[in-house]
Amino acid sequence: MIEELLHQENLQKEEIIRLLSTTGEEMKQLFARSLEVKLQYLDNKVHLRGLIEYGNRCSKSCLYCGVRGGNHKVHRYTLTDEEVLDCARQAMDLHYGSIALQSGERSDKAFTDKITELVREIKRISNGQLGITLSLGEQSEEVYRQWFEAGAHRYLLRIEASNEELYYKIHPRDEHHDFHKRLHCIETLLKIGYQTGTGVMIGLPFQTVEDLADDLLFFRRMDVAMVGMGPYIPHQDTPLYQYASQIPSADERLNMTLKMIAVLRLMMPEINMVAATADQTLDPLGREKAIMAGANVIMPNLTPTQYREDYLIYPDKACVSDAPDQCQSCLDIRMHAIQHEILYDAWGDSVAFTKGR
Ligand code: SAH
Repeated sequence: MIEELLHQENLQKEEIIRLLSTTGEEMKQLFARSLEVKLQYLDNKVHLRGLIEYGNRCSKSCLYCGVRGGNHKVHRYTLTDEEVLDCARQAMDLHYGSIALQSGERSDKAFTDKITELVREIKRISNGQLGITLSLGEQSEEVYRQWFEAGAHRYLLRIEASNEELYYKIHPRDEHHDFHKRLHCIETLLKIGYQTGTGVMIGLPFQTVEDLADDLLFFRRMDVAMVGMGPYIPHQDTPLYQYASQIPSADERLNMTLKMIAVLRLMMPEINMVAATADQTLDPLGREKAIMAGANVIMPNLTPTQYREDYLIYPDKACVSDAPDQCQSCLDIRMHAIQHEILYDAWGDSVAFTKGR
């Protein structure tokens, strides 16, 4: 019986594993409880972050990622300033209160200064109205501060795997991929005062249910304000693809993702959690299922459609050809169908974060 665990405040590792191992009726019970907890601590509002995939030039070679530096099949691009500002204007026109700027990892000064300038400019043209989340990888403390002072207030940096050994099975072991550096970056973001998000991929080769339980405990220990977790989707032009036949099925990976969201909602009731686009790639109703399991954020894509095929971090990404306005009405309908409502014209800050201030 899991009834008792579903009402327990401070879940321990063995209990988390028990919940992550549920199937059938018990799994449904878990989702019903996590939805109840979300509605109790938060509400039925879904926050939006318009996603701008700024560029795919990348100095890293993560073994799972389709745009890794080592993949020479990818056509590399960087949006122009005007294209980025147009995306921001579109976000305002669509009443998205917030945008997220994501890209491959670059730390050269031309790049970091350009981002500072773009953040300032987006703030200027929106009269400070648009919230800005960055997801631009590992940077120095100085750069993170520069971007924060320019007006970015949230930052996403997934740890990818909180178990160091697993981390090095999915990243090359070299000076560009350092588990401790990534961890340190998350700590720096928290220290600077960003609403900080992290997360992991689910269903990776070599990953165990113990690893996943440890990931959840890691999020709680770090006391982050936001978490983004999604299923791992093998990309055929990456080294990790050789293990594709050994990972759990798409259904299993999606269900495990939903269970991770649900258990984390029980553990950290007030954080923001994303229903990832990767969920929808595995199941047309994947994002709705994630919202019903306890997620409360969706990131509709604002990237100009001609670039989207070049930002395939994993294959068959959902909504690649949808224009942003189509995307908005589609989301409205989808959320209403599950008794949720989109929150327009708001930053949608994490309650966990704002309460802690
Ligand atoms: N360069 C930035 C942004 C990375 S892309 C950074 O390092 O933070 C955003 C996320 O996509 C990554 O953090 C990773 O968790 C996810 N991702 C990459 N490849 C993937 C794959 N094959 N399947 C599922 N998710 C993937």
